[in-house]
Amino acid sequence: MSLKIVVCVKYVPDAAGDRRFAEDLTTDRDAADGLLSELDEYAVEQALVIAEEVDGAEVTVLTVGPDDATDALRKALSMGADKAVHVTDDDLHGTDVMGTSLVLAKAVEHIGYDLVLCGMASTDGSMGVLPAILAERLEVPQVTLLSEVSVADGTVTGRRDGDAASERLEASLPAVVSVTDQSGEARYPSFKGIMAAKKKPLETLDLEDLDIEPEQVGLAGAWTEVESATERPARTAGQVVTDEGDGAKQLAAFLAERKFI
Ligand SMILES: Cc1cc2nc3c(=O)[nH]c(=O)nc-3n(C[C@H](O)[C@H](O)[C@H](O)COP(=O)(O)OP(=O)(O)OC[C@H]3O[C@@H](n4cnc5c(N)ncnc54)[C@H](O)[C@@H]3O)c2cc1C
Repeated sequence: MSLKIVVCVKYVPDAAGDRRFAEDLTTDRDAADGLLSELDEYAVEQALVIAEEVDGAEVTVLTVGPDDATDALRKALSMGADKAVHVTDDDLHGTDVMGTSLVLAKAVEHIGYDLVLCGMASTDGSMGVLPAILAERLEVPQVTLLSEVSVADGTVTGRRDGDAASERLEASLPAVVSVTDQSGEARYPSFKGIMAAKKKPLETLDLEDLDIEPEQVGLAGAWTEVESATERPARTAGQVVTDEGDGAKQLAAFLAERKFI
């Protein structure tokens, strides 16, 4: 049996670094160091585990992102993925989740797939909605937020843990699946893996390759717009409340003054 797995991985600004808005109120991605979104490492890990069980399985990692996003792809290749696809184009500047999902859907179709794996959310936008929108665009079942996942006989099966109950879910392939950070520790790339990743195929595509018009993406195609942004005020010293029997009253007065209650 052959199994084509595509893992969507996002290159995100490093949360430990300095992050800013550009003049058009989009994230200034050029000014920030980036890395593979940590939550997507779990999706890469599950793809590799599934592929290890199936003869002829192939894992392709896919990103939509700026030039430096190849760093994220190389990391996933060094973990063990077979090949990578990078969609990059100047017209992607300002693309929101609707545009990103369109580009990913076209790219996934271009690659060919039985299973698409995603993380539970990116560590920057963190909407967690992209896998569902992607499944809708591809017109295939979505099985999201799995903390356990396996594939057998053309079916993907998994467990989704909620607050009150765990559900067992299954869907026929092709399907889109997202996995949580409880799905299994992601492996570290070995030295051999890092060296091998340098020679693995990395295909670069632009919008024209995917038959996407510039107006369908970018700020022009976005369904959302950031109207204004202000810098977070510097932290102030705070107020110490000494409880001399009237602590609760003091706290209530403090909150009322600031219209929290
Ligand atoms: C160059 C560029 C500029 C952008 N500018 C803007 C902007 O100005 N405004 C705006 O709203 N959005 C912008 N985006 C899109 C945004 O960063 C997200 O990719 C998109 O909105 C998905 O939302 P999210 O990050 O919350 O994903 P979530 O829904 O939280 O992500 C869930 C999963 O989807 C997959 N995924 C998400 N994004 C990508 C990706 N890019 N490539 C591969 N897999 C992915 C991952 O598996 C991830 O774990 C831009 C993207 C790029 C590449």
